[in-house]
Amino acid sequence: MGWSLRSGNPAGLCATLTPMRVFRVLFLLCGLATAAQAGPVTKKAQPPDVFLVTIDTLRADHLRCYGDPDIQTPALDSLAADGVRFSQAFTPSPITNTSHASILTGLLPSSHGVTDFAVPLSSDHPTWAELLQPQGYHAAAFIGAVILDSKQLAPGFDRGFDFYDNFPERPATKSRWGRVERRGMEVVEHAEAWLNNHRSGPRFVWLHLYDPHDPYEPPEPYASIYKERLYDGEIAYADSALGVFLAYLKKQGWYEGALLIVVGDHGEGLGEHNEDTHGIFLYDSTTHVPLLVKLPGQDAKGREVPAQVRTTDILPTVLDVLDVKAQAKFDGESLRPYFTGAETPGRTAFGETDYPLRFGWAPLRSVREHGVKFIEAPRPELYNLPSDPKELHNTYEPGEAIVGNLRALLAGLRNTPLPSKGAVGQSTSDELRALGYAATDTPGSANVTEPAFLPDPKDKIEEQNLLHKAMLAMDDEKTQAARSAFKKVLEMDPKSPTALAQLGQIELANNNYAAAADYLGRAMEVRPQDATAAFNYGQALQLAGNLPGGRDALQASLKLNPHQFAARLLLGKVYLGLKDPTDAQDQLEAALLLQPESVEAQLSLAEALIAQRKFREAVPQLLAVTHSHPKNAEAYALLAQAYTGLGKKEEAKAAVNRAHQLPVQEAPH
Ligand SMILES: [Zn+2]
Repeated sequence: MGWSLRSGNPAGLCATLTPMRVFRVLFLLCGLATAAQAGPVTKKAQPPDVFLVTIDTLRADHLRCYGDPDIQTPALDSLAADGVRFSQAFTPSPITNTSHASILTGLLPSSHGVTDFAVPLSSDHPTWAELLQPQGYHAAAFIGAVILDSKQLAPGFDRGFDFYDNFPERPATKSRWGRVERRGMEVVEHAEAWLNNHRSGPRFVWLHLYDPHDPYEPPEPYASIYKERLYDGEIAYADSALGVFLAYLKKQGWYEGALLIVVGDHGEGLGEHNEDTHGIFLYDSTTHVPLLVKLPGQDAKGREVPAQVRTTDILPTVLDVLDVKAQAKFDGESLRPYFTGAETPGRTAFGETDYPLRFGWAPLRSVREHGVKFIEAPRPELYNLPSDPKELHNTYEPGEAIVGNLRALLAGLRNTPLPSKGAVGQSTSDELRALGYAATDTPGSANVTEPAFLPDPKDKIEEQNLLHKAMLAMDDEKTQAARSAFKKVLEMDPKSPTALAQLGQIELANNNYAAAADYLGRAMEVRPQDATAAFNYGQALQLAGNLPGGRDALQASLKLNPHQFAARLLLGKVYLGLKDPTDAQDQLEAALLLQPESVEAQLSLAEALIAQRKFREAVPQLLAVTHSHPKNAEAYALLAQAYTGLGKKEEAKAAVNRAHQLPVQEAPH
């Protein structure tokens, strides 16, 4: 309940409250009567600490406190006992960035717009941390996977945080641990270290425990205890990390007064509806999440709320409990009336996923209310949940009144523009692939088509499962396994842009340039708007010795996205190979505008100048390189050519001698 009311003058406050607020305040006063009478009232108490723990890929029905008798989740169970347990909470999105953006803003995906990886969270939408900042909160975030790294895949998520625990830019390790993922215990250690250094509140701390996300590799003893169901092993391990954090808070005396929320970002298919993981479908297997809210002073302790609620309700609830009046609009509403039983009916839960668009399949929308779920898809679905909780019997009939009503609700959702093109760079793509996600850029770029004309994801889920496995294998450098899985996808769908692009990259990395060019050329035909595919195609053609082809592909790529340094540099070199130094010069100068420090581009530009007999321009260009990189033999060799062109024999000779003294370096990549 509201911290400020514990200490302020409630009667005075009532004057400024709406009738509904007065009702709530009166309710609250009854509950706090004993506390108020017990001791002297201080002038202004400090707002409570707020702790948010999001556990990735957490199915509600795999927790003991949600009725699974076969798993040990003592930390989550203890929070359910100390707080309010929402047994029917739903995320609007089955994918990490999007669902977290909804938790952090209280908005649906179509409202906040973060419908894919790397799409920035617009500053139009204030986040949890930003809204608490004016209340004097110090805020810190501790993430468990690079998927929420605010420098790359989750730009804008760090707004309002004093500290956001991103991943190192140049990880020292090739292992996935520390590079793309952190164990829950490490996340907790980082959070505790920050709290130890920020002992005075109020504080808002968000912990993201990524462990239950696949691949399922729990550490011991969970790997042995749960060896037949490693997903549960990861949940039990994440629970143990949460337990360590709760014990720390209790030891510090920070637990009792805190507002603490634990929520899953989405669930996991585990083979239901043939979906192994999550992201494509909107069934309950991936949208039903646990939600536990422990209020300051353990108010409403042990209450269970069976009403349907949404993760977009969490932020409005926090602000309501803290009595913060935010100038922000939310799609969710405060859950506070459920704490007292003042509200009992469920709320309408929407679901949205654009992830299928990455593969060229139709996006999905769903609405769930009054025991019915409707999924808008090329082949729509309607489920009667009380009799069919697993959503196995589609009862959709086009003319039915209920379908019309549910469609009308969906029509109220905003239409989000497709995510901006070319946002995902190569290193980011590699990280995405390491986590098993499609790494082709320009999501949705193939979809000039109406979604209804795109393939139904129901017909494509086997393909998606294979793609997911193949991408994880690729990151593990199991090239043969990845290659055969992608080829299997091509057997199902010869035009799968993801499989074609990834096979092209595999062959490129293995120096099979002709095969790479073949795959990438086919990828380009399917997705002519994909700048990265076009760049890779150009690279493969160049390496295969087809310079005119490489030139055309690189030009096409740069037309789609002019700001690609690597494509400019390579095109410059291709022009040099084609004995076209004038066009080479243009490209290399453009490349240097993007990356002025690039020695490779500086040397190539000098080469283009020398080829045009522009020796006078080449000399200062090369002298600059010899100053910044005095051990670069190639710079001296080119300098010798330029001096020779100018007839400066002595200088040329000195440069040649210097070049011979230096070891020849490999060109930087
Ligand atoms: Zn997730």
